Amino acid sequence: MKQRFIRARGLHFPSPVFSEFDYFDDAILHIDNGYVKRFDAAQLFFNDGLHEDACEHHPEMLLLPGLIDAHVHFPQVEIIASFGDQLLDWLQHYTFPAEAKFADEPYARAAAVEFVDLLLGHGTTTAFTYATSHRHSADVLFEAAYAKSMRLVTGKVMMDRNAPSDLVDSLATGKADSEYLIKKWHGRGRLGYAVTPRFAGTSTEQQLHSAADLAAAYPDIWVQTHLSENLAELDWLRSLHSDFLDYFSLYERAGLATPRSVFGHCIHLSDNELVRLAETGGIAAFCPSSNLFLGSGLFPLPAVRDKGIPIAIGTDVGAGTSLSMISTLGDAYRVCQLQRFSLDPLEAFYMATMGNARALHLDDRIGNFCAGKEADFVLLNPSRNPQVARRVNTCQQIRDELFCYMILGDERLIEQTSVSGDIQFQQEPV
Ligand SMILES: [Zn+2]
Repeated sequence: MKQRFIRARGLHFPSPVFSEFDYFDDAILHIDNGYVKRFDAAQLFFNDGLHEDACEHHPEMLLLPGLIDAHVHFPQVEIIASFGDQLLDWLQHYTFPAEAKFADEPYARAAAVEFVDLLLGHGTTTAFTYATSHRHSADVLFEAAYAKSMRLVTGKVMMDRNAPSDLVDSLATGKADSEYLIKKWHGRGRLGYAVTPRFAGTSTEQQLHSAADLAAAYPDIWVQTHLSENLAELDWLRSLHSDFLDYFSLYERAGLATPRSVFGHCIHLSDNELVRLAETGGIAAFCPSSNLFLGSGLFPLPAVRDKGIPIAIGTDVGAGTSLSMISTLGDAYRVCQLQRFSLDPLEAFYMATMGNARALHLDDRIGNFCAGKEADFVLLNPSRNPQVARRVNTCQQIRDELFCYMILGDERLIEQTSVSGDIQFQQEPV
């Protein structure tokens, strides 16, 4: 049995209430064969007979559960920081040409391997990822994540209209390819499948219905799509549907409003749509850096939370400008500030760990260091950024330290990322 004892400063959120966190100035995480055995104050381990020499000791670093990205597009890494457009033009000018390159399977495979390494280097140990409309794009991403024992959910994009001819699937192939991938990958290792219609503008109503049929036939898969991101998008959808009621109704009518449906953005929903989203149990994915970058709008976090809608948080790369969940939390703070709400840094780090696990129905496996959880974790090293190190030295409380990380920090603070107890990313020594 493989054992590891990681000794550092440590923080996790053992319950769904972010203010009920456990923080130890000197903690030990005991990993037994890839699972958390115990997370506690170091002295208690020593009282029970553990010898200090058995520990990997990082006294200046902060140990956190692995970060979870609830919404990211793996084919879009190469179009991060593409200039000048809002959503609909950005899809035409940048997204679709980039995704068309994934028709070439070796290209897609290389991009998938690179993407998984990038996630790990950013401290992300679980991701809900959009592939492209090519079946093999999901295949190669599953293969790359499987090789790292990583928990990853993805799906081939379903898109049977309003996209270039080399990217659209059809009602028949969209369903058949998705089902092939579900049978091949869902539940294998730590992998899961999400039926992935890109959004209502690029899927016919029939295709949305066929996606819902798959979700009903395989009740433990997920659904992921986009909802109410941009006002021009809303106008366009209104023009596409003569009986348009509101954006959410397009998914509701198709049967895609389920408790396992992750709706990216949810910025411009009416109060009535929010009430109905809450009733279905659907999940809102907050993507602050993307929303700022594309000028889409401000996610109304307090209003969504007050309705009881589960909130997940994600980078939405490539419209998001970084794969770093740490800097994404900083953007979340800025988006909330613009709405006169100050996002508590403890709530922010809760969202990126236990909050996302809970919203995405994975909190029985990941999200914190409770005994029996899969041992995914990161070590943050403030000394990797001298400005952060200097500022953190003035902090009296872990809450203030977390705030420095999310405002000043990014992936360069990640010293080590472990997945199922094994190191999958390690920075070079200074
Ligand atoms: Zn997206």
